[in-house]
Amino acid sequence: MAELQPVEAALTTLLDDVAPLPTELVSCSHAAGRVLSDAVPARLDVPPFDSSAMDGYALHHDDAGRSLPITQRITAGTIVQPLSPKSCARIFTGGELPPGADCVVMQERVEEKDNLAAIPADIPAGDNIRRRGRDVRADASLLDAGVRLDAAALGHLAGQGITEVVVRRRPRVALLSTGDEIVEPGQPLAPGQIYNSNRPMLKELLERFGGEVVLVASVPDNPEGTRDTLSRAAREVDVVISTGGVSVGEEDHVRAALESIGRLDLWRLAIRPGKPLALGRLPGEGGRTVRFIGLPGNPVSCFVGAWLFLRPLMGALLGCPALAKLPTLSARADFATNTGPRRHYMRVALEFGEQGVVAKAFRDQNSGVLSSCVGADALAVIPEQSRIAPGDIVDCLWLRVD
Ligand code: AMP
Ligand code: MG
Repeated sequence: MAELQPVEAALTTLLDDVAPLPTELVSCSHAAGRVLSDAVPARLDVPPFDSSAMDGYALHHDDAGRSLPITQRITAGTIVQPLSPKSCARIFTGGELPPGADCVVMQERVEEKDNLAAIPADIPAGDNIRRRGRDVRADASLLDAGVRLDAAALGHLAGQGITEVVVRRRPRVALLSTGDEIVEPGQPLAPGQIYNSNRPMLKELLERFGGEVVLVASVPDNPEGTRDTLSRAAREVDVVISTGGVSVGEEDHVRAALESIGRLDLWRLAIRPGKPLALGRLPGEGGRTVRFIGLPGNPVSCFVGAWLFLRPLMGALLGCPALAKLPTLSARADFATNTGPRRHYMRVALEFGEQGVVAKAFRDQNSGVLSSCVGADALAVIPEQSRIAPGDIVDCLWLRVD
């Protein structure tokens, strides 16, 4: 158990038989960031009718090359009449194409005088027309199951007149902070104490990953307090996260508590930062199994651990493949480094230039330096036992949530 575990093994252990959460019906006006549990079929063609893509004149292409009387004026929203042969309609962008017309000539190409429009020759059928159903067909799938509702997806639902959707319930998370030295901002700081950086940082990340922090608690550095808080929290949530107290010190009680009331699946990872990390399970309400992630106390390790483990877990609970997997990209390193037996996750800024993407490492990569995470765009993954020189290509995990 003491052997250092690779990240892949830890992820397999963490995600082993995690089932997506139950569903709920929500109003589209409150559905941003939620994940669809089922595919949403389209009800309507979009656009719902052939319409003009330009301000201009609608006609049948056989009548091009003549002066045509203007028999209708069609703005967006106008109810149209059929167009008689050898006539045209003044039409504006979004106006419905009248029956009998099959093209639109843009107004800049037309001379209009005394209600006659001089139409140039050779206007092809279909010119400047937005076809009915070009975007969405009524019988097709509008959005797939597992899609996270972003701005465009919400627009797409509204385009169908849809007002409610069935989504996964948000994972309910307890965020526990261990450490007798940890104080909440707003309280005075006594000698030897430090403020709780991990709680707001993880809360923000968890919400971006689609979760909901429903319980926060401070855990005293003693065995009973740790056991009690862990088992109480597990009864109220889907996931329990703790920070700190998971190393081998005399004041590290999380692992023992987990072993006594639940199950320790894995402990200590072959990564830097973030080695002392525990994965396990706790008994929840009604015999449910609640996932447990014990992140290290060190804020940098917490940050890295959140991206590597909390995000995939939220993705699995939400049934959202795009969340479950971090996007990767290759970049040219602007730094030199060596690794030993642990894989290194370096905090880098990405610069997109003409020569491609450059990964710029923050100067101080020490695991105690949280400023290395501020503004970090990616984690450059430096494999075990490797040597990187400036200009080498490195794989980066892109710290973005789409
Ligand atoms: P631990 O894993 O409990 O040994 O903590 C490792 C280091 O992280 C110690 O220096 C702790 O004081 C620090 N630490 C633990 N929890 C937090 C926290 N919530 N915010 C800031 N630093 C923390
Ligand atoms: Mg501690």
